[in-house]
Amino acid sequence: LFITFEGGEGAGKSTQIKRLAAYLATVDIDTLVTREPGGSPGAEAVRHVILSGAAEPFGPAMEAVLFAAARSDHVAQLIRPSIMAGKTVLCDRFIDSSRVYQGVTGSLDPSFMQALERVAIDGTVPDLTIILDLPAEKGLARATRRRGDEAADRFEKETLATHEARRQAFLAIAAAEPERCRIVDADRPEEEVSAEIIAIVDKLIES
Ligand code: C5P
Repeated sequence: LFITFEGGEGAGKSTQIKRLAAYLATVDIDTLVTREPGGSPGAEAVRHVILSGAAEPFGPAMEAVLFAAARSDHVAQLIRPSIMAGKTVLCDRFIDSSRVYQGVTGSLDPSFMQALERVAIDGTVPDLTIILDLPAEKGLARATRRRGDEAADRFEKETLATHEARRQAFLAIAAAEPERCRIVDADRPEEEVSAEIIAIVDKLIES
């Protein structure tokens, strides 16, 4: 199984992935937790270039190509081999983050973005995508509390309107692909959100 987690800043993706991985361990499901941008050594190197500010002069198209290059390596080196080995792969951000961050709020041509996505994933589409949904101002307040992480410089420059536009873009993806995507209300206590995600994944495992 290949399960991806998406949503804006401060939605709780990494917390929820940890909780789901802990649950899957209790039911003896062999799980790999990974993230984007990054996940494989080559993709982590690209992550550093993009998030450290070194990519500042690159421009949106080049940045989108870098994200796609990192994803291609991550899929080929880690995600696909792990799925083939029978593992359940949990990935923090994947194609929908690119569609939203580079595509929608980066204003890149949709056919360019689709071509990059196709090349990068080469058929490795998630079985399930959990979209953690939270009002932009709440997510930002949470994310600002952990200020100092490597992405802080980037998102601090962005407006609330940009974050809200991203939220709407994630919801639009879920509406367009209801068989792959599930929206989970992240504006609730951590344990409640986790219980809902576990129920969704249990159902998928049983099917
Ligand atoms: O999920 P995480 O907070 O680690 O992501 C780091 C940053 O990378 C995000 O704040 C976001 O600005 C950026 N990002 C992006 N495009 C992607 C994935 C992540 O701009 N496709």
